[in-house]
Amino acid sequence: MHKRFVARLGVAFLLAGAMWLAYSQGPPQPAKLDLVKIKDDLYVIHNEVVPGNSTALITNEGVVLVDDKFEVDHDNIIAQLKKVTDKPIRYVINTHHHGDHSGGNVKMQQMNAQVVASEEARQNMVDGKQPGLPTIAIEHHAQIYLSGKNAELYHFGRAHTNGDVVVLFPAHRTLAAGDMFTFGDATPQLIDYAGGGSAKEWTGTLDSVLQLDFDTVVPGHGNVTTKRDMAKFRDSTLTLRNRIHEMIVQKKSRDDIAQMLRKEFHWEQLHLDRGLDGALAELR
Ligand SMILES: [Zn+2]
Repeated sequence: MHKRFVARLGVAFLLAGAMWLAYSQGPPQPAKLDLVKIKDDLYVIHNEVVPGNSTALITNEGVVLVDDKFEVDHDNIIAQLKKVTDKPIRYVINTHHHGDHSGGNVKMQQMNAQVVASEEARQNMVDGKQPGLPTIAIEHHAQIYLSGKNAELYHFGRAHTNGDVVVLFPAHRTLAAGDMFTFGDATPQLIDYAGGGSAKEWTGTLDSVLQLDFDTVVPGHGNVTTKRDMAKFRDSTLTLRNRIHEMIVQKKSRDDIAQMLRKEFHWEQLHLDRGLDGALAELR
Protein backbone atom coordinates (compact mmCIF):
# COMPACT_ATOMS: atom_id res chain seq x y z
CA MET A 1 0.00 0.00 0.00
CA HIS A 2 2.66 2.45 1.11
CA LYS A 3 4.91 1.41 -1.75
CA ARG A 4 2.13 1.89 -4.25
CA PHE A 5 1.39 5.33 -2.87
CA VAL A 6 5.06 6.31 -3.15
CA ALA A 7 5.18 4.98 -6.71
CA ARG A 8 2.10 6.98 -7.61
CA LEU A 9 3.60 10.06 -6.03
CA GLY A 10 6.72 9.50 -8.10
CA VAL A 11 4.67 9.37 -11.27
CA ALA A 12 2.83 12.50 -10.19
CA PHE A 13 6.12 14.35 -9.74
CA LEU A 14 7.34 13.20 -13.13
CA LEU A 15 4.11 14.27 -14.77
CA ALA A 16 4.17 17.58 -12.94
CA GLY A 17 7.69 18.09 -14.20
CA ALA A 18 6.74 17.27 -17.75
CA MET A 19 3.73 19.52 -17.44
CA TRP A 20 5.55 22.56 -16.23
CA LEU A 21 8.35 22.16 -18.70
CA ALA A 22 6.25 21.65 -21.78
CA TYR A 23 5.84 25.15 -23.16
CA SER A 24 4.77 24.46 -26.69
CA GLN A 25 3.73 20.85 -26.86
CA GLY A 26 1.40 18.79 -24.76
CA PRO A 27 1.92 15.38 -23.21
CA PRO A 28 0.97 12.43 -25.45
CA GLN A 29 -2.07 11.54 -23.35
CA PRO A 30 -4.90 13.84 -22.33
CA ALA A 31 -5.20 14.33 -18.57
CA LYS A 32 -8.10 12.85 -16.66
CA LEU A 33 -10.34 15.76 -15.68
CA ASP A 34 -13.12 16.24 -13.19
CA LEU A 35 -15.43 19.10 -12.32
CA VAL A 36 -15.35 20.79 -8.90
CA LYS A 37 -18.30 23.01 -8.09
CA ILE A 38 -17.65 26.25 -6.21
CA LYS A 39 -21.08 27.79 -6.86
CA ASP A 40 -23.92 27.09 -9.30
CA ASP A 41 -22.17 29.23 -11.91
CA LEU A 42 -18.50 28.76 -10.99
CA TYR A 43 -16.59 25.52 -11.58
CA VAL A 44 -13.03 24.26 -11.50
CA ILE A 45 -11.90 21.79 -14.16
CA HIS A 46 -9.37 19.84 -12.18
CA ASN A 47 -6.71 17.39 -13.41
CA GLU A 48 -7.00 14.25 -11.28
CA VAL A 49 -3.42 12.94 -11.24
CA VAL A 50 -1.40 16.12 -11.49
CA PRO A 51 -3.76 18.63 -9.98
CA GLY A 52 -3.77 21.51 -12.48
CA ASN A 53 -6.80 23.81 -12.61
CA SER A 54 -8.95 25.75 -15.04
CA THR A 55 -11.82 27.89 -13.72
CA ALA A 56 -15.11 28.54 -15.54
CA LEU A 57 -17.65 31.30 -14.88
CA ILE A 58 -20.97 30.35 -16.46
CA THR A 59 -23.30 33.11 -17.69
CA ASN A 60 -26.43 33.23 -19.86
CA GLU A 61 -24.34 34.56 -22.72
CA GLY A 62 -21.40 32.20 -22.43
CA VAL A 63 -18.40 31.08 -20.42
CA VAL A 64 -15.36 32.97 -19.13
CA LEU A 65 -12.61 30.36 -18.78
CA VAL A 66 -9.34 30.87 -16.89
CA ASP A 67 -6.58 28.71 -18.44
CA ASP A 68 -7.17 26.14 -21.19
CA LYS A 69 -4.56 23.47 -20.32
CA PHE A 70 -2.73 21.59 -23.11
CA GLU A 71 -4.21 21.31 -26.58
CA VAL A 72 -4.67 17.58 -26.03
CA ASP A 73 -7.04 18.37 -23.13
CA HIS A 74 -9.36 20.53 -25.24
CA ASP A 75 -12.08 17.99 -26.04
CA ASN A 76 -12.22 16.91 -22.43
CA ILE A 77 -12.57 20.51 -21.20
CA ILE A 78 -15.49 20.99 -23.58
CA ALA A 79 -17.05 17.70 -22.38
CA GLN A 80 -16.76 18.82 -18.75
CA LEU A 81 -18.36 22.21 -19.50
CA LYS A 82 -21.19 20.50 -21.41
CA LYS A 83 -22.26 18.97 -18.09
CA VAL A 84 -23.17 22.42 -16.75
CA THR A 85 -23.86 24.69 -19.73
CA ASP A 86 -24.74 24.61 -23.42
CA LYS A 87 -23.38 28.12 -23.96
CA PRO A 88 -20.17 28.84 -25.92
CA ILE A 89 -16.83 29.83 -24.40
CA ARG A 90 -16.60 33.59 -24.95
CA TYR A 91 -13.34 34.49 -23.22
CA VAL A 92 -10.25 32.50 -22.27
CA ILE A 93 -7.81 34.14 -19.87
CA ASN A 94 -4.26 32.75 -19.83
CA THR A 95 -2.82 33.35 -16.34
CA HIS A 96 0.63 33.03 -17.99
CA HIS A 97 2.31 31.67 -21.11
CA HIS A 98 3.14 28.08 -20.05
CA GLY A 99 1.71 25.36 -22.29
CA ASP A 100 -0.35 23.73 -19.55
CA HIS A 101 -2.28 27.03 -19.21
CA SER A 102 -2.36 28.30 -22.81
CA GLY A 103 -1.95 25.18 -24.96
CA GLY A 104 -5.61 25.11 -25.94
CA ASN A 105 -5.66 28.66 -27.37
CA VAL A 106 -5.76 27.71 -31.06
CA LYS A 107 -8.75 25.42 -30.60
CA MET A 108 -10.50 27.96 -28.39
CA GLN A 109 -10.00 30.66 -31.03
CA GLN A 110 -11.39 28.32 -33.68
CA MET A 111 -14.55 28.28 -31.53
CA ASN A 112 -14.55 32.12 -31.58
CA ALA A 113 -13.36 32.64 -27.99
CA GLN A 114 -11.29 35.77 -27.31
CA VAL A 115 -7.99 34.97 -25.60
CA VAL A 116 -6.75 37.46 -23.00
CA ALA A 117 -3.35 37.63 -21.24
CA SER A 118 -0.93 40.19 -19.84
CA GLU A 119 1.32 42.04 -22.31
CA GLU A 120 4.29 40.20 -20.77
CA ALA A 121 2.72 36.76 -21.10
CA ARG A 122 1.80 37.54 -24.70
CA GLN A 123 5.36 38.65 -25.40
CA ASN A 124 6.67 35.39 -23.89
CA MET A 125 4.36 33.50 -26.27
CA VAL A 126 5.66 35.54 -29.21
CA ASP A 127 9.25 34.79 -28.15
CA GLY A 128 8.44 31.09 -27.75
CA LYS A 129 6.72 31.02 -31.16
CA GLN A 130 3.62 29.62 -29.47
CA PRO A 131 0.50 29.35 -31.62
CA GLY A 132 -2.82 30.92 -30.60
CA LEU A 133 -1.56 34.32 -29.44
CA PRO A 134 -3.93 36.33 -27.22
CA THR A 135 -5.87 38.98 -29.14
CA ILE A 136 -6.40 41.10 -26.02
CA ALA A 137 -3.48 42.04 -23.76
CA ILE A 138 -3.70 43.90 -20.45
CA GLU A 139 -1.10 45.89 -18.54
CA HIS A 140 -2.39 46.24 -14.98
CA HIS A 141 -6.12 45.76 -14.61
CA ALA A 142 -9.11 44.87 -16.74
CA GLN A 143 -12.71 43.78 -16.31
CA ILE A 144 -14.69 41.35 -18.38
CA TYR A 145 -18.45 41.96 -18.17
CA LEU A 146 -20.80 39.33 -19.49
CA SER A 147 -24.52 38.96 -18.93
CA GLY A 148 -24.58 40.85 -15.62
CA LYS A 149 -21.51 39.08 -14.21
CA ASN A 150 -17.89 40.10 -14.17
CA ALA A 151 -14.34 38.88 -13.80
CA GLU A 152 -11.54 41.20 -12.69
CA LEU A 153 -8.03 40.67 -14.05
CA TYR A 154 -4.94 41.95 -12.27
CA HIS A 155 -1.28 41.94 -13.25
CA PHE A 156 0.73 43.11 -10.24
CA GLY A 157 4.29 42.14 -11.11
CA ARG A 158 6.77 39.29 -11.29
CA ALA A 159 6.31 35.95 -9.52
CA HIS A 160 6.26 32.54 -11.29
CA THR A 161 6.85 34.47 -14.55
CA ASN A 162 6.81 38.18 -15.43
CA GLY A 163 3.31 37.91 -16.89
CA ASP A 164 1.25 36.31 -14.11
CA VAL A 165 -2.38 37.44 -14.07
CA VAL A 166 -4.83 36.62 -11.28
CA VAL A 167 -8.58 36.60 -11.89
CA LEU A 168 -11.06 37.67 -9.22
CA PHE A 169 -14.72 36.66 -9.32
CA PRO A 170 -16.00 39.29 -6.89
CA ALA A 171 -19.54 37.94 -6.57
CA HIS A 172 -18.08 34.59 -5.47
CA ARG A 173 -15.22 36.02 -3.40
CA THR A 174 -13.04 33.59 -5.33
CA LEU A 175 -9.63 34.08 -6.94
CA ALA A 176 -8.06 32.04 -9.74
CA ALA A 177 -4.37 32.48 -8.93
CA GLY A 178 -2.48 30.71 -11.72
CA ASP A 179 0.96 29.37 -10.83
CA MET A 180 1.76 32.38 -8.65
CA PHE A 181 0.21 30.14 -5.99
CA THR A 182 0.60 26.37 -6.07
CA PHE A 183 -0.78 24.40 -3.17
CA GLY A 184 0.73 21.28 -1.59
CA ASP A 185 4.15 19.67 -1.33
CA ALA A 186 3.69 17.86 -4.65
CA THR A 187 3.64 21.20 -6.51
CA PRO A 188 6.39 23.40 -5.00
CA GLN A 189 7.15 26.99 -5.95
CA LEU A 190 8.61 27.11 -9.46
CA ILE A 191 10.55 30.24 -10.40
CA ASP A 192 10.78 30.40 -14.19
CA TYR A 193 13.63 32.85 -14.70
CA ALA A 194 13.64 32.30 -18.46
CA GLY A 195 10.01 33.43 -18.39
CA GLY A 196 10.78 36.49 -16.27
CA GLY A 197 10.05 34.94 -12.85
CA SER A 198 11.59 36.36 -9.68
CA ALA A 199 12.22 34.96 -6.19
CA LYS A 200 12.92 38.48 -4.98
CA GLU A 201 9.69 40.07 -6.22
CA TRP A 202 7.34 37.10 -5.76
CA THR A 203 6.50 37.95 -2.11
CA GLY A 204 5.61 41.57 -2.88
CA THR A 205 3.46 40.51 -5.82
CA LEU A 206 1.55 38.15 -3.52
CA ASP A 207 1.14 40.97 -0.98
CA SER A 208 -0.68 42.98 -3.65
CA VAL A 209 -2.89 40.01 -4.52
CA LEU A 210 -3.71 39.38 -0.86
CA GLN A 211 -5.15 42.91 -0.60
CA LEU A 212 -7.97 41.84 -2.92
CA ASP A 213 -11.26 40.79 -1.35
CA PHE A 214 -11.73 37.00 -1.57
CA ASP A 215 -12.00 33.86 0.60
CA THR A 216 -11.59 30.96 -1.82
CA VAL A 217 -8.55 30.38 -4.02
CA VAL A 218 -8.08 28.17 -7.04
CA PRO A 219 -4.32 27.58 -7.19
CA GLY A 220 -2.57 26.95 -10.51
CA HIS A 221 -1.86 23.44 -9.27
CA GLY A 222 -3.29 21.79 -6.16
CA ASN A 223 -6.73 21.55 -4.61
CA VAL A 224 -9.08 24.51 -4.20
CA THR A 225 -8.30 26.17 -0.89
CA THR A 226 -8.49 29.35 1.21
CA LYS A 227 -6.94 32.79 1.29
CA ARG A 228 -5.30 31.76 4.57
CA ASP A 229 -3.34 29.04 2.77
CA MET A 230 -2.31 31.56 0.14
CA ALA A 231 -1.02 33.85 2.91
CA LYS A 232 0.98 30.92 4.32
CA PHE A 233 2.42 30.30 0.87
CA ARG A 234 3.34 34.01 0.71
CA ASP A 235 5.32 33.57 3.95
CA SER A 236 7.08 30.52 2.52
CA THR A 237 8.21 32.55 -0.51
CA LEU A 238 9.84 35.00 1.90
CA THR A 239 11.47 32.19 3.90
CA LEU A 240 12.78 30.64 0.70
CA ARG A 241 14.29 33.91 -0.48
CA ASN A 242 15.88 34.53 2.95
CA ARG A 243 17.27 30.98 3.24
CA ILE A 244 18.97 31.25 -0.16
CA HIS A 245 20.35 34.68 0.67
CA GLU A 246 21.69 33.51 4.07
CA MET A 247 23.47 30.56 2.49
CA ILE A 248 25.01 32.79 -0.20
CA VAL A 249 26.33 35.09 2.57
CA GLN A 250 27.70 32.01 4.40
CA LYS A 251 29.49 31.11 1.15
CA LYS A 252 27.69 27.78 0.88
CA SER A 253 28.12 25.92 -2.40
CA ARG A 254 25.50 25.67 -5.15
CA ASP A 255 25.11 21.99 -4.22
CA ASP A 256 24.46 22.81 -0.56
CA ILE A 257 21.81 25.31 -1.52
CA ALA A 258 20.23 22.80 -3.93
CA GLN A 259 20.13 20.23 -1.11
CA MET A 260 18.46 22.72 1.20
CA LEU A 261 15.83 23.53 -1.45
CA ARG A 262 15.10 19.84 -2.00
CA LYS A 263 14.81 19.19 1.73
CA GLU A 264 13.02 22.27 3.00
CA PHE A 265 11.00 23.35 -0.04
CA HIS A 266 10.40 20.03 -1.86
CA TRP A 267 12.17 21.22 -5.01
CA GLU A 268 12.69 18.60 -7.70
CA GLN A 269 15.30 18.63 -10.47
CA LEU A 270 12.90 20.62 -12.64
CA HIS A 271 12.63 23.42 -10.07
CA LEU A 272 16.41 23.51 -9.66
CA ASP A 273 16.94 23.61 -13.43
CA ARG A 274 14.46 26.45 -13.92
CA GLY A 275 15.08 28.43 -10.76
CA LEU A 276 18.37 27.88 -8.96
CA ASP A 277 20.91 29.80 -11.03
CA GLY A 278 18.50 32.68 -11.48
CA ALA A 279 17.84 32.84 -7.75
CA LEU A 280 21.57 32.71 -6.94
CA ALA A 281 22.25 35.61 -9.30
CA GLU A 282 19.26 37.63 -8.07
CA LEU A 283 19.74 37.13 -4.31
CA ARG A 284 23.50 37.64 -4.13
ZN1 LIG B 1 3.42 27.71 -15.06
